[in-house]
Amino acid sequence: MCKEQRRNGEKMPQIIDGKAISAQIKDEVKEQVAALKEQGKSVCLAVIQVGTDPASSVYVGNKKKACAYVGIESLSYELPEETTQEKLLSLIAELNGKEEVNGILVQLPLPGHIDEDAVIRSIDPKKDVDGFHPQSVGALCIGQPGFVSCTPAGIIQLLKRSGIEIAGKECIVIGRSNIVGKPMALLLLRENGTVTVTHSKTKDLKDVTKRADILVVAIGKPGMITRDYVKEGAVVIDVGIHRNENNKLCGDVDFEDVAPVCSAITPVPGGVGPMTIAMLMYNCLHSVLL
Ligand code: NAD
Repeated sequence: MCKEQRRNGEKMPQIIDGKAISAQIKDEVKEQVAALKEQGKSVCLAVIQVGTDPASSVYVGNKKKACAYVGIESLSYELPEETTQEKLLSLIAELNGKEEVNGILVQLPLPGHIDEDAVIRSIDPKKDVDGFHPQSVGALCIGQPGFVSCTPAGIIQLLKRSGIEIAGKECIVIGRSNIVGKPMALLLLRENGTVTVTHSKTKDLKDVTKRADILVVAIGKPGMITRDYVKEGAVVIDVGIHRNENNKLCGDVDFEDVAPVCSAITPVPGGVGPMTIAMLMYNCLHSVLL
């Protein structure tokens, strides 16, 4: 699916460097956390994992590592798979009440017997560093301050810090999930883009996506977006993360096919991926300031 061949003689676009930009954001957060410490204030994130899903364990481990790097204290709650919803909600209620805990993160997905929406709703919106609480989403929708989902917030930073203007641009988002597609559309709108959201029921997807100056792809289908979906000179942001048949990471965009026709593109790995944790650190810092 993710082709390896490169067409001879075709020019390559600006490669948007998520590794460098995320490192820059983490360093900025680190500096501000240190400044808060000098005023006697600390930042603390509680991370809850239910069960031992290996992918979740890797994500949780990376989040704790990032906390250690920027100087944010992390409290770890590793609960067994069979934990009841009641028990999880009571832990969250306890953490909501602890003044020294600034952010609460529940690693998703949760085991099937737990209602994820009920868990998300139970987190105090002031500590909702993932930005998934309905109050955070509502605030984003009406332009009020609040936490923003980390992946789309990271994409706005990638664009801005790569010198790509959003205002007035035709922005097309493929995918309408609550954690990526929908908040992405709202953020692009907040930046004065002209925004269209497409999804699995969109008719003539290629005709729509070919209008995009900025195309954000969050579908969950490896290599689906080829150059037939992309306007010459577009900026292409690939949110997808998959392992291909050779166990190599690849995205929803067929990078080798699309890169020569666009003006800028995010690679996988090293594009959107590292931004999510950097923005989580940013949200944790801001949980103290809210
Ligand atoms: P999701 O499955 O919740 O949503 C996928 C969306 O794509 C849906 O809205 C659906 O309507 C749309 N879609 C599916 N097939 C389509 C088609 N043929 N044409 C048009 N639209 C179609 O996925 P998600 O949580 O939004 O994640 C999308 C991808 O991004 C996944 O690969 C996921 O692993 C990745 N992801 C990466 C990060 C990161 O940090 N880089 C974070 C979140 C998600």
